[in-house]
Amino acid sequence: MKNEKAVVVFSGGQDSTTCLFWALEQFSEVLAVTFDYGQRHVQEIEHAKHIAETLGVTLQVLDMGLINQLSANALTRDSIEVKEQSDGLPSTFVPGRNLLFLSFAAIYADAFGARHLVTGVSETDFSGYPDCRDTFIRSLNVTLNLSMDKQFVIHTPLMWLDKAGVWELSDQLGAFDFVQKETLTCYHGIPAEGCGTCPSCKLRNEGLQTYLSQKAGAKS
Ligand code: ZN
Repeated sequence: MKNEKAVVVFSGGQDSTTCLFWALEQFSEVLAVTFDYGQRHVQEIEHAKHIAETLGVTLQVLDMGLINQLSANALTRDSIEVKEQSDGLPSTFVPGRNLLFLSFAAIYADAFGARHLVTGVSETDFSGYPDCRDTFIRSLNVTLNLSMDKQFVIHTPLMWLDKAGVWELSDQLGAFDFVQKETLTCYHGIPAEGCGTCPSCKLRNEGLQTYLSQKAGAKS
């Protein structure tokens, strides 16, 4: 796929940054899109811009404030706590988010002459988000192709990886240190290791410890 273009859905977090490195290895031209939907922490966008700039990738920030208008949840409202709700979905779930984001990314990709879309969704550590499942992504891929009469390919390099596996992939891509030091995953907006206590930090740090002990075990 060396002479093809790709658009990466990018947030500046561990997963999408790993995907960006993956895409840079796979495709000749890579563009990143970040969605501004009133995230609790504006620095998430600034962070995404900074990473894209460092890697020499053009970043397009798309205004998705509409999502904030439609739904209130822990990622967009400071007053809502990050926790599990009675329906089993975390309060950080934004209904329809990946449906909308990937659809807009596809429209953007089409305008840019790219047919490859890359997203860091994962079914393994998906926290119960239905729009991170493989079946949803495949279904949307078909729908996008039918809707625009195109041959989009949605790539999900992290789909079957747990967090330790994502660290391993970043290591294979030569991006381990970069991902560890430069990305922002924490729900409280603290880069690198983050606050250490929110669900996102716990997942990231546990995955890191697992990967590092696996690596140490493999060496000895
Ligand atoms: Zn945190």
